[in-house]
Amino acid sequence: MKRRKVSSKNFIEHIIDEDLEKGFDKKKLKFRFPPEPNGYLHIGHVKAICLNFELGKKYNAPVNLRFDDTNPVKENKIFVDAIKDDISWLQYKWEEEKYASDYFQQLYLWALELIKKGKAYVDNQSTEQIALQKGTPTSPGQNSPFRNQSPDKALSLFIEMKEGKHPEGSMVLRFKGNMSSSNMLMRDPVLYRILKKPHHRTKDKWCIYPMYDWAHGQSDYIEEISHSLCTLEFLPHRELYDEYLDFVYKKGTKPKQREFSRLNLSYTVTSKRKLQKLVENSFVEGWDDPRMPTISGLRRRGYTPTALINFAKAVGVAKRDNVIDASFLEFCAREDLNKKSRRVMVVLDPIKVIVTNYPENKNETLLTENNPEDSEAGHRKIHFSKELFIERNDFRETANRKFFRLKLGGEVRLKSAYIIKAQSLKKNDKGEIDTVYCTYDPLSLSGSGTQESQRKVKGTLHWVSQKKHVKIKVNQYDRLFTNPNPDSDKDQDFTKHINPHSLITNKAYAEISLKKAEPGTSFQFQRQGYFICDKKSTDKTKVFNKTVSLRDTWTKKEAKT
Ligand code: ATP
Ligand code: MG
Repeated sequence: MKRRKVSSKNFIEHIIDEDLEKGFDKKKLKFRFPPEPNGYLHIGHVKAICLNFELGKKYNAPVNLRFDDTNPVKENKIFVDAIKDDISWLQYKWEEEKYASDYFQQLYLWALELIKKGKAYVDNQSTEQIALQKGTPTSPGQNSPFRNQSPDKALSLFIEMKEGKHPEGSMVLRFKGNMSSSNMLMRDPVLYRILKKPHHRTKDKWCIYPMYDWAHGQSDYIEEISHSLCTLEFLPHRELYDEYLDFVYKKGTKPKQREFSRLNLSYTVTSKRKLQKLVENSFVEGWDDPRMPTISGLRRRGYTPTALINFAKAVGVAKRDNVIDASFLEFCAREDLNKKSRRVMVVLDPIKVIVTNYPENKNETLLTENNPEDSEAGHRKIHFSKELFIERNDFRETANRKFFRLKLGGEVRLKSAYIIKAQSLKKNDKGEIDTVYCTYDPLSLSGSGTQESQRKVKGTLHWVSQKKHVKIKVNQYDRLFTNPNPDSDKDQDFTKHINPHSLITNKAYAEISLKKAEPGTSFQFQRQGYFICDKKSTDKTKVFNKTVSLRDTWTKKEAKT
């Protein structure tokens, strides 16, 4: 797959440059990444993180991390910590760690001002009644019977709401917008609701909580954010964002909301709420299950920060929503891992090879390159002996001329070792091949300089010595969903498209060097793909997760069907 062209400037940068040309002080540029701590970050967030933090780098401007924590029902300190961990893992540094909840008092004071100026009222109707009066995009809404409430009445009711004198759901504070605006969000939006839930930071101090729109722009203003970037679904919110800001604005930077497209990835879902459902219903092991599109899942799967950032940069920032092919993300992983990961030999599905003319008790230590892509990666020792394992699908009893692996009467090179020739075989009771008897050419050792060692044979196989090996556990994955767009049908539960075979675990035979593998280290299992040592590894059993195959088998499979 070809690398997408990365344009030198995205449209957000054009907007910023225009502002600078018009006289905006470059020193006042400031950005923020504002996650709600109601779940783990996913690949979509990588795009928003990358956009904001790369702008910070490009313009030498600070970037705040702001937790948009206005809904205590769904938010949690665990998510705060996970989010910080993920952004740090991506190697981005925020200027200040802020919380919308830091501003609850100020937001409350501003709400009091709104009320005093006759711009807000307390509505006692039910949510359903309010919704019925909203109208439709083509027909105006109706005024609430509480709209003409006096500011004094509104003020005392709102203070009572704050003091916990009214039950949850009994009333809300509404902004006096315009009930016939073509923008439905302007039709007297809710500013505050009663929630008698403790907040993970403010505990029981508040039982009224501001809505997103009342909190977001003002938080940007308090933090002096110059450009507040969010995804396209917030476009209709911009009018409200500006209106609220106009009301509170006194001096300094007036933040500007601009919208960019969401990133969607094929064969997965990018919504914290949906990902939570997968966790809660045990479709996956947890938020960091390697099949999850969360940053922590991708990390456990073996994706590197560089791979994810290169992916986000290559996808770019556009004004229209799009779905990116999952194989492009895999391509980015492969590209980075190829440069960085040490090569090792692992046989995933073994058959035995006995080299009949090799001395019985001989153990040879051979040297092989760690990474041909990295001249500084050095060499390591591998062990050759009479009895070996090779991959079951690397051998066939009979095969045509195009089969360059091992067949009876045919020759192959064992990687970094000798040329062998298959002479005969033994099958088990079930008729499956158990052992292949081969002879080897003692003069053919790779790198030995002999004429024989330079003899070209068509196939090279990976192998592992039976005498010196380590058994490992390997997790291999398929797509988590069978449908490229699992949540396209809004009437259907997206979990219907779960792939029941997305995880296959087996035992494999690895060269002895993997005995010392550390969790978090990636390897290329030669001729197979990239694998990362998992956190569940013990000294006794190492566990490896497959990141991605060496080549893109998926797109080929798709093209055939
Ligand atoms: P989710 O639906 O997954 O909860 P969200 O938009 O509610 O997503 P937030 O925590 O509010 O999640 O998002 C933090 C920032 O990341 C916001 O600026 C949001 O616009 C951006 N963001 C969220 N999802 C994506 C995505 N898929 N692509 C690009 N940016 C995203
Ligand atoms: Mg959200």
